Amino acid sequence: MGLEEKAGDLGIVTTTLEGVVNWGRTKAMWPMLFGLACCAIEMMAGQASNYDMSRFGLELMRASPRQADLMIVAGRVSRKMAPVLRRLYDQMPEPKWVVAMGDCASCGGVYNNYAIVQGVDEIVPVDVYVAGCPPRPEALIDGILQLHEKIKRDKITDHADGKPIRVEQAERGA
Ligand code: SF4
Repeated sequence: MGLEEKAGDLGIVTTTLEGVVNWGRTKAMWPMLFGLACCAIEMMAGQASNYDMSRFGLELMRASPRQADLMIVAGRVSRKMAPVLRRLYDQMPEPKWVVAMGDCASCGGVYNNYAIVQGVDEIVPVDVYVAGCPPRPEALIDGILQLHEKIKRDKITDHADGKPIRVEQAERGA
């Protein structure tokens, strides 16, 4: 049994403050509303009715970084956009997390040239890398759910521990 423990048959469940705080963090993540390229279309599909990321507490996409705690970098990042992206990240309150969605955000993808950042981890710390060009909405959701599991194991005073999560590209089915 995770952090919770049932005390006999008394109908009482005990837990830790850390467990409750981390549970709350996973149930009300607010992603920032912005997309950079074609991967953003799949991110939007993830929010739409067919995939409905709201089921996992990602109900609100926030237009202000000050109200967001999850940055989904959906698409390639140009060198000109890099300082803007970093500023947005700095304006997000702690704790905050970053998903590099797609090959371009993760490593530059097909844009191996001077104009594109060769992986957004050059600019901000990345918690989850989701492979694909573009990744399907399921892959993005899978990455976020794995991030939720990681958050549940976090120390509330230091959420930045551990290795980043990598979501491999799923086979394309019908
Ligand atoms: Fe577009 Fe593919 Fe790059 Fe995503 S990974 S931004 S789909 S080129």
